[in-house]
Amino acid sequence: MEVTLLNHTPLWVCSNAIRTCWQSFDKGDNGGEIDIALIERVGNKLKHASTLEHLYYNFYIKGVSRALLQELARHRIASLSVKSTRYTLKELKGESEFRLNDWQNASRYLVLSGNADVDNASIKALNNLREILAANTSLDIAKYCLPESYKTELSWSINARSLQNFITLRSSKSALWEIRNLANAIYNAIPNEHKFIFADCVYKD
Ligand SMILES: Cc1cc2nc3c(=O)[nH]c(=O)nc-3n(C[C@H](O)[C@H](O)[C@H](O)COP(=O)(O)OP(=O)(O)OC[C@H]3O[C@@H](n4cnc5c(N)ncnc54)[C@H](O)[C@@H]3O)c2cc1C
Repeated sequence: MEVTLLNHTPLWVCSNAIRTCWQSFDKGDNGGEIDIALIERVGNKLKHASTLEHLYYNFYIKGVSRALLQELARHRIASLSVKSTRYTLKELKGESEFRLNDWQNASRYLVLSGNADVDNASIKALNNLREILAANTSLDIAKYCLPESYKTELSWSINARSLQNFITLRSSKSALWEIRNLANAIYNAIPNEHKFIFADCVYKD
């Protein structure tokens, strides 16, 4: 998987929102140490967490499975725009048959689990799909035999409060391995000066 942070709100927007309550704008330092201490105290420690909603993060996420996608989509306080199989499945039309155990070739389209039986079953599903597409079946119908391991990509935007919730739930040991990897990759992609907001949410073994 590949996670790219496209854009993020600067910290001063959040501290400015906090200072709105007291009209203490003159005490800010443009997202520096004073503002960071304020965000940590008010947003994190005092749980005036709605102030964290002013911080937005826009990610581009590539090479995750549709199995992961359906878990990610359960996080309602976020926005998703996903690569549509209805419009893009034709990408398989020019492909020749996928050979079993050829992980490198298969991983262009599939997220592999590391279990050879499971991954070969996904390759067979990919070949079934190729045959269906070769028969000129419409993409709206063909998509119903996609394996869950089929790769997708999406734009994903989320505010800091909801991202805290996501990282807490999905970096946990009880989360599915792939979304756990995603939660860690998302955390790593967050700008270093913002990491203090999320540091306590990351699961530590
Ligand atoms: C380990 C694990 C196992 C899971 N297993 C299953 C499963 O077997 N089946 C299944 O269906 N789901 C399962 N889920 C998904 C889970 O139930 C949540 O849908 C998902 O984690 C999104 O969490 P969320 O609702 O907190 O996030 P969001 O939807 O982003 O919501 C963020 C927060 O907003 C508030 N909120 C949002 N909507 C409402 C609302 N309608 N009413 C009140 N408050 C609201 C809540 O405080 C919520 O925490 C699992 C999740 C995890 C982490």
